[in-house]
Amino acid sequence: MQRARAISLVCVSLLGFAPVRAQDPADINAKIRKEGTENSQIMRTMHFLTDVYGPRLTGSPNLKAAGEWAIKQMTAWGFEDGHLEPWDFGHPGWTNERFSGFITAPVKDTLTCEVLSWTPGTNGPVTAHAYQMTLPEKPTPEEFTAYLATQKDKVKGRIVLAGKHQIVPVTLTPTARRQDDKQAKERYDPINPNAGQGRSGPRREQQQPEPGKLTPRQIDEQLDQFLIASGALIRVNDAGREHRQIRAFNNRTFDPAKALPTVVMSNEDYGRISRILADDTSVELEFNIVNRWYPEGKTAYNTVAEIPGTDKKDEVVMLGGHLDSWHSATGATDNAIGCAVMMEAARILKAIGVKPRRTIRVALWSGEEEGLLGSQAYVKAHFGTFEEPKPEYGKLVAYFNIDSGTGRARGASVFGPPEAAAVVRAALAPFEDIGVMGAIQSKSRALGGTDSSSFSQAGLSGIGMGQDPIEYNSATWHTNMDTYERIIEDDARKSAMAVAAALYQLATRDEFLPRFSKETMPPLPPKEGAPSTATPATPTPQARPGNKSN
Ligand SMILES: [Zn+2]
Repeated sequence: MQRARAISLVCVSLLGFAPVRAQDPADINAKIRKEGTENSQIMRTMHFLTDVYGPRLTGSPNLKAAGEWAIKQMTAWGFEDGHLEPWDFGHPGWTNERFSGFITAPVKDTLTCEVLSWTPGTNGPVTAHAYQMTLPEKPTPEEFTAYLATQKDKVKGRIVLAGKHQIVPVTLTPTARRQDDKQAKERYDPINPNAGQGRSGPRREQQQPEPGKLTPRQIDEQLDQFLIASGALIRVNDAGREHRQIRAFNNRTFDPAKALPTVVMSNEDYGRISRILADDTSVELEFNIVNRWYPEGKTAYNTVAEIPGTDKKDEVVMLGGHLDSWHSATGATDNAIGCAVMMEAARILKAIGVKPRRTIRVALWSGEEEGLLGSQAYVKAHFGTFEEPKPEYGKLVAYFNIDSGTGRARGASVFGPPEAAAVVRAALAPFEDIGVMGAIQSKSRALGGTDSSSFSQAGLSGIGMGQDPIEYNSATWHTNMDTYERIIEDDARKSAMAVAAALYQLATRDEFLPRFSKETMPPLPPKEGAPSTATPATPTPQARPGNKSN
């Protein structure tokens, strides 16, 4: 300790006499590659964030503990000012502690299900006959009310399958796991008119509300109210995915009084029960669900730590990803790996002993899955917006985000004028041999997708890393398959090295990253219609009962 301090005092006093000189980028990049290859901490970080602290649902004790572990770890690496930064989530924390589900007649077998979060438990095992509702397609409010009136007596005292079985065709032509270099190059080529196409991240399903019809979300909420009022015992949704994949999201009211105990069942089990019921054979099911609520979860936390800069330390380059996850698995590809990569990128710079002139700040967000809530709260508290800036607004150089699974970074999309993308492109250019193909400009201030948009929406330089898809869309994103085993360490290392290099350049170059001017700043997109009360920043309504698509 003493010795290290003495050395750093010498360095500081030397800096006092000589202007800070940027080190040779080729030399820095070689050091970044060596450190990232020989001493990577990514899989160790992954082990803690997934195996030990996963899943990390917003408001849960696991997520807070994961943040505390990350702070301890970053502090051990030499980062400073590690802390949890609170924001108001407004809902209690929730965890599922136990679940079992069986078909007990006419056959006996175990069922594969996941519990919908923020729904109540069962208060002990519940055994009852199954009843399957065939919901009308795209009903008007009147049609839906009339249909429910015919079901009232049928659902009482039953375990209710909410909807008919979805037919999931076998995938005969799987999508590519990687983008080839030519595609990636075109995607990040600023003079290609089609640049930016073929993004690897999942696209949100845009549902246009049909005039006069209920939205899927309205159907879902009315169905919950109806099932409670009619004395149904448990609600079962069809996962509707292949290979027993399950995506279980949340009771959007976050209110246990407004939902039954609810599970999302594998499409295969749901289909089997549906087919037996269709034989006019009665089916008996048994469920036991133990959930726990945490009132203190109303306050959620972003996890923040930094490497202070030198002569420009009041200017900040940020990087991060969201630490919160859904609860069906341990949230490895969404998005412990993004956190591990960004922690590693900053760690590499610390470990190779460079002295970035600007402060580098890692932020691991919470509430992303409920609508980018943590990053929006942070931007609001620290920076404000282009239209209503706070003093720190002018000090944020950029924010790097990564959140599309385990695939290696293939390029960056940079909110700002073309000159900003050019700076990032030049910083990434020495990494073309590991597949990083450039950077392009983004002009979108629309909120959505992931946390970089919380920055871009405010007019700040949000930078999103694009990645190879690997199994993200096809298997791991938001599913019960999202575990440590699905991580490709070599890809994650390469992403961390490229980000470290770009981070170093932005933190060290003489000039600030160019920003849009008053004249060129894109206008804010028009506000979306009536935001939901439960998830105000989630623009996408659910695609199916019990499932939502962001
Ligand atoms: Zn994510």
